[in-house]
Amino acid sequence: MAELIDGKAAAAKVVEKVKTETAALAEEGITPGLAVVIVGDDPASQVYVASKSKRAKECGFHSVQHTLPAETAETELLALVEALNADPAIHGILVQLPLPGHIDSARVIQTIAPEKDVDGFHFINVGKLGTGALESTFVPCTPAGAMLLLKRARGTDLSGLNAVVIGRSNIVGKPMANLLLAANATVTIAHSRTKDLPAVARSADILVAAVGRPQMVRGDWVKEGGTVIDVGINRIPAPEKGEGKTRLVGDVAFDEAEKVAGAITPVPGGVGPMTIAMLMANTLVSACRANGRVPPSL
Ligand code: NAP
Repeated sequence: MAELIDGKAAAAKVVEKVKTETAALAEEGITPGLAVVIVGDDPASQVYVASKSKRAKECGFHSVQHTLPAETAETELLALVEALNADPAIHGILVQLPLPGHIDSARVIQTIAPEKDVDGFHFINVGKLGTGALESTFVPCTPAGAMLLLKRARGTDLSGLNAVVIGRSNIVGKPMANLLLAANATVTIAHSRTKDLPAVARSADILVAAVGRPQMVRGDWVKEGGTVIDVGINRIPAPEKGEGKTRLVGDVAFDEAEKVAGAITPVPGGVGPMTIAMLMANTLVSACRANGRVPPSL
């Protein structure tokens, strides 16, 4: 049976470290500041934003939330982002996606100052990650968290290992592939047009699933002893728990894969909890950089 990679414990450790470092900064009069902006009343987004703001407060950050109505004009949102860019008390700006259809999300994201872009979506930060300038970029939080879990399981140098990332989104798949490459893995990015995906997946010492299709990766896609990082979060019906009930599953058929893999992240409790923890870490790093401090390694 595969070793379980415990994301909840790893995330708690990151948050503890962030709290300690924040307390040390406070003694020098520095408080990391995170601004979270949400437009509209999408219930899922409201939940995400509330938990980000809450966790920021727990870490000892200056935490600000801007909740704007769905009909907010793009110019108004851009003006808010510009004001946050100029506010020295704010080190991280996060605009919760998706934005309402009348707002150009790309324009809003590219308006965030790169040095405050703790989501790592600005072209400058994407380019730095792509060119291996990891020490001065912000890595998007979910792949950053997935990579931290992977490094705990397999070490920091992945030389000689084949990694397959299924999924090529800008938020998960592509940054994950770049992180694996930076750690010296030999990387394949697979997607919906890949031929014979099960065979490609079976070549992976490290298999990362970021697809958004419940339990698509079956046990016989997994290499014996390989490490499986399941980024997927999918809600499926769970009639066994009662009528109308649901449960969360990943992109990997966990019960099958854990019999073959050497190590695997569960869903829930794997990559999921790492995302907010890495957002806190990125905000701390930003505050350190802004104040000429060397950021701690997490
Ligand atoms: P996305 O933007 O929808 O991208 C999905 C990718 O999977 C695409 O590149 C797509 O290929 C590929 N794909 C779709 N069907 C496929 C198939 N049948 N065979 C092979 N590849 C296929 O999704 P995402 O934002 O990257 O998210 C992926 C998963 O991670 C989702 O379950 C999401 O909920 C989860 N997620 C979790 C967190 C977290 O843990 N906090 C954060 C973000 C996302 P094409 O490019 O060819 O269409």
